Amino acid sequence: MASVAPSPTPSDVLHRIFGFPEFRGQQEQVVSRVLAGQRTLAIMPTGAGKSLCYQLPAVIMDGTCIVISPLIALMHDQMRAADAVGIRAATLTSADDNRAETISRFRAGELDLLYVAPERASGQEFRNLLRETKIALFAIDEAHCVSEWGHDFRPDYRLLRPLLDDFAEVPRLALTATADTHTRDDIAEQLGIPHDGVMVAGFDRPNIRYAAEAAPNSGIAALVKSLPGAGIVYAQTRDRTEKIAAQIAETGRKALYYHAGMEPQTRARAQAEFVSSEDMVMVATVAFGMGIDKPDVRFVVHAGLPKSIESYYQESGRAGRDGDPAVAHMLWSAGDFTRARMRLNELPPERREAELARVAALSYLVETAGCRRAVLLRHFGESPPESCGNCDNCLNAPDVHDATELSRKLLSAAYRTGQMFGMGHLEKVLTGSKDDRITQLGHDQLSVFGIVSKAEAAMLKPLSRALQARGAMVANEHGGLKLAGDARAIMRGDQNIQIAIVKPDNKRRAGRPDN
Ligand code: ADP
Ligand code: ZN
Repeated sequence: MASVAPSPTPSDVLHRIFGFPEFRGQQEQVVSRVLAGQRTLAIMPTGAGKSLCYQLPAVIMDGTCIVISPLIALMHDQMRAADAVGIRAATLTSADDNRAETISRFRAGELDLLYVAPERASGQEFRNLLRETKIALFAIDEAHCVSEWGHDFRPDYRLLRPLLDDFAEVPRLALTATADTHTRDDIAEQLGIPHDGVMVAGFDRPNIRYAAEAAPNSGIAALVKSLPGAGIVYAQTRDRTEKIAAQIAETGRKALYYHAGMEPQTRARAQAEFVSSEDMVMVATVAFGMGIDKPDVRFVVHAGLPKSIESYYQESGRAGRDGDPAVAHMLWSAGDFTRARMRLNELPPERREAELARVAALSYLVETAGCRRAVLLRHFGESPPESCGNCDNCLNAPDVHDATELSRKLLSAAYRTGQMFGMGHLEKVLTGSKDDRITQLGHDQLSVFGIVSKAEAAMLKPLSRALQARGAMVANEHGGLKLAGDARAIMRGDQNIQIAIVKPDNKRRAGRPDN
């Protein structure tokens, strides 16, 4: 027998198989932990190169690396990418008709990587199959799905633990792009990874300029027209994607839309056209962008509140992967917050607390007068500097007003008028503007009638948005405002309310690049 060739070193494999000159960020550290058999949870932002962290060890280690991944489409993309560099990879899913062949290759030890969905991986049949060959590693992709605190909990992921523990000697590597500190601890706990096995890569994307703005929907096309290059606009419904794309096209910019209701071929064509274009705007639901390789996306606009800070980071992170300046601009409305809070009621009680914390984190991101990058990075457990110099608030510091007293007046007006009137009416009451309706209702007789000065009146609308964002008021379907959440504490004067108001003489949108 010929002597066993020494296994190649990680950097050999990196150069020869993957063709990369160097490891990026955390990759080297994660790879060496995996090769040393240490259980690891790698938290790395989208685009940081997570796949390499298990693909490279899979090439070096004896046996097959089992990759657990939640989306069949993603598995197939990754398999093709691995295959292209000569890694022996296969998927075992309901969408594959070559399952028998895959199983026999696996049994014969001819696979470096085998991708499976969690529900299959946790089944008894698969467990028996695993005993027939040597398993090098379990890689659990999108590991936040195991946590109820994560933004995409999938019960199937909970079934993985018994499987992992059945093969306790096989190293495990969990990977995710998005996890706040709380979710991070939970993932490690759920998957049996020790505290010191949690590796966190830096989340900062310094070339992305963040901005958030309370805006009416009519402002989207004008904003997009001012942003050069190819970009993505995320809208919340299929209907909106089509409407916004039409509005953008009217301004003379090329625009396409993309959503799940389209014919697969039409959708694939739109995606291909976007990927190859340098100035196309893609208006899409959030399904768009996952697994798309387009490094020169110059902007991501959110036309409406994202689902969570995690989703926001991931979606906005599709901008500027080439490292050149890019913009992430979020347009939100008070109604977005009301709807987000209403959706909480549809959740099972045990999940509400986590979701509520998610909405609160978003409200903080949009309301802050300070650095938005700092808010994002702190959310991911980092300790960033107070100011980044590359977000709307750092570039154009808003005026901060103490609105504690004004909040009490506004909430009292809502309360005394029966918690059924919208801002237009409440403003009239507070500023003492009499009309027939006010007199008929007797609202000119209330103690809150005319207690707000002209100067303060300009702050009422932004204040109402801020109070809705933090959940102290909620609007009904007719815009009527009701007290909620912390409203009582605010009325008692137990809470300080500060609001940030963009300086009125500065018409420049903070998210617009300087050119
Ligand atoms: P993630 O899953 O973290 O979003 P991927 O694994 O898809 O990221 O990798 C993102 C891109 O980075 C891919 O195009 C990949 O080929 C590339 N990449 C990964 N590692 C390196 C490296 N060390 N040097 C250069 N490019 C890399
Ligand atoms: Zn900043």
